[in-house]
Amino acid sequence: MLRPLPLLVLCAITLFAQTLSAQTMPPPADKQLAHDIYKEFVEIQSGFTTGATTPVAEAAAARLKAAGFPDSDIFVGGANPKKANLVVRYHGCGAAKPILLLAHTDVVEAKREDWSTDPFQLLEKDGYFYGRGTGDDKAQAAVWIANLIRYKREGFKPDRDIIVALTADEEGGGPFNGIDWLIKNHRDLIDAELALNEGGWGESAGGKRISNDLQVSEKYVINFRFEVRNKGGHSSIPVPDNAIYHLAGALERLSKFGFPLKTNDVTAAYFREMAKIDPGPLKADLAKIAEDSEEAMQKVAAAAPAWNATLRTTCVATQLEGGHAKNALPQVAAANVNCRVLPEDSPEYVQSTLQKIVDDDQVKITIVGEVSQGPASAMRPDVLNAVKRATESQWPGVPVVPIMVMGATDGLYLRRAGIPTYGIQGFFFDRDDIRFHGRDERMGVESFYEGQTFLYDLVKTLAKNGK
Ligand SMILES: [Zn+2]
Repeated sequence: MLRPLPLLVLCAITLFAQTLSAQTMPPPADKQLAHDIYKEFVEIQSGFTTGATTPVAEAAAARLKAAGFPDSDIFVGGANPKKANLVVRYHGCGAAKPILLLAHTDVVEAKREDWSTDPFQLLEKDGYFYGRGTGDDKAQAAVWIANLIRYKREGFKPDRDIIVALTADEEGGGPFNGIDWLIKNHRDLIDAELALNEGGWGESAGGKRISNDLQVSEKYVINFRFEVRNKGGHSSIPVPDNAIYHLAGALERLSKFGFPLKTNDVTAAYFREMAKIDPGPLKADLAKIAEDSEEAMQKVAAAAPAWNATLRTTCVATQLEGGHAKNALPQVAAANVNCRVLPEDSPEYVQSTLQKIVDDDQVKITIVGEVSQGPASAMRPDVLNAVKRATESQWPGVPVVPIMVMGATDGLYLRRAGIPTYGIQGFFFDRDDIRFHGRDERMGVESFYEGQTFLYDLVKTLAKNGK
């Protein structure tokens, strides 16, 4: 009986053809191709409200077709004619479920008068590429396409399909979000075992590379309304039962409260790596956090708000309203409390904890709007090892730091759909000069091409089933 063994053997054999040598720069032709696609993408106005992503999807489709990708492997479509997405599939031998490479093609608005240069012209100057989307997220979009074309030209045979999705409306969210639309309408096109996305980049300081960040999970957001209602009355005859006082007391108790300090496998790994990098006096405590030391967590949380936010769910009052006249007892007093919740804490847990802390029946606590909770992606050793290996070959000695961010990438939709998603780019940015969404957004020229090579290596390893 003939069995599909030969196919698997073929997959195994091609493993040895993999190059492991460090190549910082892509071959000149691939460098040029990535540059040209990048320029084309940046120069298409795809602002969330004023532009369209369809021309980006069409430009990518034309590049792929010119490189020999068949029409049947290319999909262009979306929630609305201006908001098209592109999906392309590069076939592997089916030994494992596909890997999805995601990038969004819409950008934050940019006005010519706010910028030193034209935001929709790719300008190379003093070692940087300037233009809207050069960092967020058209570099990754261009590199995904250029690298896919390179794999095809080189005859690379992956164990699994490699799918690239360039999607609409990450920045504004809402009804036209491309990955959300694809999950709901064309799940078969993008279904994958895991996905790579934006959300983690390289950090440098003073021209020195500090870390290559791998974003594994995100905190999620809940807004709560604290509301007190009271019959009110004339302010000349006050009574102790006052809506504003009830609310003020509740917020005072909230201000003194901290959710329990803890780590998960992502943040424990983060602190373990930080302990190696940090030159400061907390070095030993950072290491102890990874061993679950309560005392160390307290010291580190007290030292920096960002570390505090990494170690616990946080809730903070952000808006206030109350009273209806200067000479009347308030009938309503309310506050918005904005919580950034660890992936492992449930909305019910947060709500009941707040109720307990506030300890006042008069204060009604309700959730405002929708809660976008998503699970954390597991810290897959194959992903972590592949990222470490590609990082070491490209930038020897630079550590890979797993991070949890405070939310808001398309990774959330994928994680909720059960596709673990990892934010990784290998583009390095100065940690004190992040210009995403701001004026004169830019990307180091060298960093762009190094990132191209890094992602080429990384995807190749992962497409070989992590081997
Ligand atoms: Zn982005």
